[in-house]
Amino acid sequence: MTATQILNRIPLEEYAPLLGEPEIAEMRSLAKPLRGKQVQMVNSTKVGGGVAEILNRLIPLAEELEIDIHWDVLQGGADFFEVTKAFHNALHGASYVSNSQDFGIFREYNRRNFDLVRQDAEFTIIHDPQPAGLIEARREKAGHWIWRCHIDLSHPNSAVWGFLQPYVAQFDGAIFSSPEFSRQLPVPQYLFYPSIDPLSEKNRDLDKEFIGSVLRQFEIDAQRPILTQISRFDRLKDPVGVIRAYRIVKRYYDCQLVLAGGGASDDPEGAIVLDEVRKEASGDPDIHILELPAWAPLEVNALQRASTVVIQKSLREGFGLTVAEALWKRKPVVASAVGGIPTQVIHKHTGLLAHSVEGTAYQIRFLLSHPEIAKRLGEQGHKHVKENFLITQNLKNYLVLMLSLSRGN
Ligand code: UDP
Repeated sequence: MTATQILNRIPLEEYAPLLGEPEIAEMRSLAKPLRGKQVQMVNSTKVGGGVAEILNRLIPLAEELEIDIHWDVLQGGADFFEVTKAFHNALHGASYVSNSQDFGIFREYNRRNFDLVRQDAEFTIIHDPQPAGLIEARREKAGHWIWRCHIDLSHPNSAVWGFLQPYVAQFDGAIFSSPEFSRQLPVPQYLFYPSIDPLSEKNRDLDKEFIGSVLRQFEIDAQRPILTQISRFDRLKDPVGVIRAYRIVKRYYDCQLVLAGGGASDDPEGAIVLDEVRKEASGDPDIHILELPAWAPLEVNALQRASTVVIQKSLREGFGLTVAEALWKRKPVVASAVGGIPTQVIHKHTGLLAHSVEGTAYQIRFLLSHPEIAKRLGEQGHKHVKENFLITQNLKNYLVLMLSLSRGN
């Protein structure tokens, strides 16, 4: 089964009230010359994490434009995902001891997935390092192959990057989420911001009754401030640091903390980190650790909307889609100044940035004591997302890139 079979299509016209008719017409005219050309997107998980979230919405929207698009998922074993998670952390700057066995596992699983490659595709977009080795299945420079990198490569571990770079160099181009993330490469590089779908179950408006029912389901008190971080249980998201910041805030405000996260099938570390988080939180009934199913968009939406302040205290981050999701919901956000977060949270304009546990606590306290400023930041954040980080803009970027590649530019 390809991943596309589970996706909900939303008629393009439904975006018109939000974006205006001219925007829809522009998308249709960009897509027209691409009809009949096959596009393949490949990543390493169908649910969980920002990449799957984007593909879940990008694919049906492209289908709405009658693009012949397919989403395929690389199949790996536990050993492969352990290796690629270590690569992921190392590319974000974590320490890593170079290990030829890891490189062998990476090569082997990519080889085993060669049949996944649709040789008839005119455009093949490979997301992130996990399936980058599929480039070796390409037949004699057939089609256009693009590597879409969602991670911050500004300070990669040199052994891992040294291993991956020769794969990336075989592509026809690479897309990054921020100018600072790109590397010296012998291929053209493009900047695409990640994006959210304003009409998806994750982001659409919800009625108050539903939000209330989700709070009751998780035994969260709607009457007291709710601080929330929604993230996979991953050390780079620093959930333990969030608890420490909350504890400082709690000395001044009778607030609650929600740490909600599901798993991603390509992330094997979740259970260990969840255990660490539970230990850190033990004994405080106002800390709600919610282990969500990997696919629970309405619950995530409701929790974000119910929040007084949304936190994203990542130590490293690709883009941080959860930030865009919270800003879209007009929430005041306190987030770390890492990865793609400062592109979204413009300090004191669309949210507040912090660099430490103490700084995070300070900014949360500030927002709790200045609700009118919190409201203004949320409003400005919504506008910022609307202008820059919507799925329609992301799809337009892909259409323009494919048009230009097919014309040989
Ligand atoms: N997410 C989710 N359920 C969870 C945790 C996260 O649906 O329990 C979603 C979240 O709403 C966002 C995505 O997963 O859409 C995470 O993307 P982000 O870029 O923030 O982080 P990543 O996991 O890709 O590092």
